[in-house]
Amino acid sequence: MMLNASLKDLSDMLAARKVSSVELTQTFLKRIDELNPSLNAFITVDTEKSLAQARAADERIAAGKAEQLTGIPFAQKDIFCARDWLSTCGSKMLANFSAPYDAHVIEQFNRAGAVNLGKTNMDEFAMGSSNETSFFGKVKNPWDVSRVPGGSSGGSAAAVAARLCPAATGTDTGGSIRQPAALVGITGLKPTYGTVSRYGMIAFASSLDQAGPMARSAEDCALMLNVMAGFDSRDSTSLEREKEDYTRDLNQPLKGLKIGLPREYFAEGLSADVARAVEAALAEYRKLGAETVEISLPNTRLSIPVYYVLAPAEASSNLARYDGVRYGYRAPEYGDLTDMYQKSRAQGFGAEVKRRIMIGTYVLSAGYYDAYYIQAQKLRRLIAQDFEAAFRQCDVIMGPTSPSTAFRLGEKSDDPVSMYLSDIYTIAVNLAGLPGMSVPCGLGDNGLPVGLQIVGNYFAEARMLNVAHQYQLATDWHTRMPEGI
Ligand code: GLN
Repeated sequence: MMLNASLKDLSDMLAARKVSSVELTQTFLKRIDELNPSLNAFITVDTEKSLAQARAADERIAAGKAEQLTGIPFAQKDIFCARDWLSTCGSKMLANFSAPYDAHVIEQFNRAGAVNLGKTNMDEFAMGSSNETSFFGKVKNPWDVSRVPGGSSGGSAAAVAARLCPAATGTDTGGSIRQPAALVGITGLKPTYGTVSRYGMIAFASSLDQAGPMARSAEDCALMLNVMAGFDSRDSTSLEREKEDYTRDLNQPLKGLKIGLPREYFAEGLSADVARAVEAALAEYRKLGAETVEISLPNTRLSIPVYYVLAPAEASSNLARYDGVRYGYRAPEYGDLTDMYQKSRAQGFGAEVKRRIMIGTYVLSAGYYDAYYIQAQKLRRLIAQDFEAAFRQCDVIMGPTSPSTAFRLGEKSDDPVSMYLSDIYTIAVNLAGLPGMSVPCGLGDNGLPVGLQIVGNYFAEARMLNVAHQYQLATDWHTRMPEGI
């Protein structure tokens, strides 16, 4: 019962003292113990640290000082620095890195009295769409362990889907919350760029990176976003806006909602089973009183090439700090200083990370900078303008989150471009800085989950959550769980 309870139910149970935070935490730690060996969703679990937080939460509840998430255990993507916890970012480079401070997101959960249940596996430095590039091994999809859970937040996704935790955090640079959410049948939200502070979140591509909630329902995501969002002066791109209650519009009716359907998202490359599930979800929305209109995002086809110039450019700069000097991996044997840099980086980074550093360095180099980097920045503007025009015709945009359901482990490992294409519907949203969600909307061939993507205008998180919640009241796809789990 506790395994399927919503955050609100857990909060009520804790408040009514039907369960203690220690009991709740132990329940999930036991699940992790049993199922993590086959899923590999967690990199670090620290029973003592989690239980100490749970005991503190129980005291706080007893003192009548609880907030809504006090005492609830959450899994944290291993991209967030958490004091005295290993914070590896899925890399050998940081395999022994114990963070000296908390990321803003971790601080916010701590302040709310939540329990850190452990750090989840991820693609190395969040580069990937399948969770196969982690130094700590592949994550398996709980719906079918021969398949990928998506990436890069695949550990968090698998953990939530398999009920190893009530909910988890993720980060999304080009789709890493939404795509894994779709592939394991959970709900995930990437907020408007700047909504959640990037302080202490290990940087991949700073102009795109954004943290968000991964949970089983839109309502749970709203409760988490209430804790995660907010201005932080330590992140220069953090937005100074008034604090919002993201649950405030959950119960608004959808009558009159205008849903834009981008012609380019329902075209070649989309699997038939995904298309069918998305169409059925749209039919449900029409029943709820929404109207659909066809729109166009003409520059969609440019989003992958633009992203794969800009994201590697930013990554090559961000990852320059891993030089074997201050922290992180240092090669055990080397000659002079340059040799130490070279060996440490050659041994500490995996193949995908090296590929990105090389591409990024190339597009930023003198002579190529104008042709690639500057050109990509101009196209990024055009992609954002497509959305601006679209939102003059509709309130939200819908389509598939991912072109197919979960693919097989190893299926795309040797073909980076085919791997990159699995983010075709999510990447433009990051380039434009818009908020996007993925909501479970059916099962495709082989009984694998399908995700519906909902994209809102800037700062429309509360509206998107409302749109998702109303659908989840009318359907039960978000409650389905993998068999045998
Ligand atoms: N799959 C994309 C990439 O490999 C996006 C990853 C992400 O959002 N962190 O870069």
